Amino acid sequence: MFTWRERLEPTGDRFGVEWAVTDRHGGSSLEPWSSFNLAAHVGDREDAVSTNRHRLAHELGLRVADLRLMDQQHGCDVALTDATTGAAGASGMPAPAADALVTGSTEEALVVLVADCVPVLLVDRAEGLAAAVHAGRPGLLAGVVPAALQALRDLGARRLDALVGPSVCPRCYEVPGDLRDQAAALVPAAASVSWSGTPAIDVAAGVVQQLADSDLDVTVRWLPGCTREREDLYSYRRDGTTGRFAGVVRLVSPEQVA
Ligand SMILES: [Zn+2]
Repeated sequence: MFTWRERLEPTGDRFGVEWAVTDRHGGSSLEPWSSFNLAAHVGDREDAVSTNRHRLAHELGLRVADLRLMDQQHGCDVALTDATTGAAGASGMPAPAADALVTGSTEEALVVLVADCVPVLLVDRAEGLAAAVHAGRPGLLAGVVPAALQALRDLGARRLDALVGPSVCPRCYEVPGDLRDQAAALVPAAASVSWSGTPAIDVAAGVVQQLADSDLDVTVRWLPGCTREREDLYSYRRDGTTGRFAGVVRLVSPEQVA
């Protein structure tokens, strides 16, 4: 169910964090989505996706209604959850059309769905803020990561821990030369070459550069692994019709310590 998972307990007045990256094992979806597909928009059966989401929520000690997903657009819009803005009806909140989701609430988990794109999780443990970001090639070029950092700064964030999850590696991400040049002009670290030496884009390296270039104090952890080369993760480039795995982040408030 998880390829990576960590829980950092609250200390003093610092928030804890529970964050994870799922894999494709331990779910109810059948081929070609087998088995822990968390996306409802990829042709999988609704009941299988629902079962999988319930399992994920249960693992985090939440209800499925406490999972906050996005209607991901490959853009750079940032949405604050209803619990963060104070809007009513938080638990029935529809998935906003956005590629970054920000919360200041410990009662919900943010979920970003991927199958080659870069999942980025951000947390400010002093201020009690978290974000989940979906950064593919368009999101990298549109600046979704800087947009998420700006939204967090606007809410008072200063020091962030960032987790960059597995994604398609540049060796496996051949693109036309003009696309690589366009990416390199905006984010030089994104220029790369494929296994056969042709132009390629390193989206994750570009995302890491955007995090490093921020004037916020960001500590980056970058998980290894290429989705196209790892059978335990979903890869759209490899399989076409397939599922989505997730990056998930939840704040833990100091008062929640037993
Ligand atoms: Zn690869």
